[in-house]
Amino acid sequence: MLHAPALTGRERIRLRRMQRSLARARRGSNRRGRVKHAVARLRARETDRRKDWAEKASTGIARRFDVIRVEDLKIGNMTRSARGTRENPGRNVRAKAGLNRGILGSGWGLLVRRLEDKAPGRVEKIKAHYTSQRCSACGQVDPESRESQARFVCTACGFACHADVNAAKNIAAGHAVTARGGDGVTRPLNREPHLLLQSA
Ligand SMILES: [Zn+2]
Repeated sequence: MLHAPALTGRERIRLRRMQRSLARARRGSNRRGRVKHAVARLRARETDRRKDWAEKASTGIARRFDVIRVEDLKIGNMTRSARGTRENPGRNVRAKAGLNRGILGSGWGLLVRRLEDKAPGRVEKIKAHYTSQRCSACGQVDPESRESQARFVCTACGFACHADVNAAKNIAAGHAVTARGGDGVTRPLNREPHLLLQSA
């Protein structure tokens, strides 16, 4: 369970307060300039924290594991499509905007890029299809097994665990077809790395 750092609760409150005062400040005023600068500094601090985290996490994972399987998240597509166009406005824009913030906020893309740099040829991207609906114990695929965002309970065999851990086990086992072809199940399961990222 990896946790990407984010702004602390206090920092988020400060950021919100500054953004409100920015909305009230007169254009071109000194105060506006000062607040804008402070907002930028806070955002830069968050970015630095994530970069630092991605460096350390990717180094540790690249050292500890031979094969590293990650979920193949199409971050670009996810962020682009939500809003839609004027002729064809996107649906569920609010919900999707929340998801996007979570995915981008977690520093996923950065972590995967650094992993690929540090473990060349050892990172495999696994298609995400059904990884969250498939039981990692018996292989049954059923959307009903996803009891909640956090909990997986298999409708066939009763296997229960954290929903993200269940999905990670499917990915680690190379359940979906890998980039190299084949089903990817070539090593004993207990040697497989589990990489799981949660947004903070
Ligand atoms: Zn099952």
